[in-house]
Amino acid sequence: MILGCHVSYGKEGLLGCAKEAISYGANTFMFYTGAPQNTLRKPLEESIIQNAHKYMKENKIDIQNVVCHAPYIVNLANQSNYEKWLFSIEFLKQEMIRCEKLGITKIVLHPGSAVGISPEFGIKHIIEALNLIVSSDTNCQILLETMAGKGTECGVTLDEIKCILDGVNCPSKFGVCLDTCHLHDAGYILKDFDCFLKKFDDLIGISKIQCVHLNDSKNECATHKDRHENIGCGHLGFDTLLSILNHPAIKKVPKILETPYVSITDDEKKRVYPPYRFEIMMLKEKQFHKNLLQEIRDFYKNA
Ligand code: FE
Ligand code: FE
Ligand code: ZN
Repeated sequence: MILGCHVSYGKEGLLGCAKEAISYGANTFMFYTGAPQNTLRKPLEESIIQNAHKYMKENKIDIQNVVCHAPYIVNLANQSNYEKWLFSIEFLKQEMIRCEKLGITKIVLHPGSAVGISPEFGIKHIIEALNLIVSSDTNCQILLETMAGKGTECGVTLDEIKCILDGVNCPSKFGVCLDTCHLHDAGYILKDFDCFLKKFDDLIGISKIQCVHLNDSKNECATHKDRHENIGCGHLGFDTLLSILNHPAIKKVPKILETPYVSITDDEKKRVYPPYRFEIMMLKEKQFHKNLLQEIRDFYKNA
């Protein structure tokens, strides 16, 4: 089982990420190279990268399973502000060079939001941008994330994802990241995951699945809301998520939790704590804890 979660890059960069992942009992992780909502990036420090690689080896994290997430302000779908579109392209190029220096081979990307133009045009712009970013000697693979369909997002249906993959010049440099909350919110039924995989395989090919974001959803199927929920606490439910995690056809694919932090209010101050240690434990034990949120609160209250 290759299971991890979203961790923060922080002061220690990749090393800090790996340490945080290990503290939760994870054997992989996903990170942003800075704040997800902006493009300010610190220069990479060679010594930290080396220490991170050493630490990962010692703790049996295979770096091939570690994924980076492109910041969500990158929008390749809309050209109405041409400068901004070019900036997104340039930033993503730089981000992929950063990944290469960090030894990371996969970057997850939200395909983009059409904003005021038709999804068909949005997808056309995305393909155009990707062909400017990726060439035959690119070393980092871009994983297109399946989206919930909030606003004018592109890449919501498998047909749209296929359309992008069919349009790029170097398809081998691309894969897909299945986000279970997004798929559910987009209207796909994951209860029978075999059935979903069959559909995916017929259209795109199972080997394209290179990452799974394992999240529950706060909303019902096809609501296009994109609000993640803690594992087993939402409309997907524990058994469905467990069946995806353990599905033999995608056994070697890293599964990443992006579930919400749990809040505790004391002295009128609200603090939030990561749920991952507990969710990973439940998934490994294959047993849902009905009092998950309370367990997390108790743990951090006493810590
Ligand atoms: Fe994402
Ligand atoms: Fe996601
Ligand atoms: Zn989401």
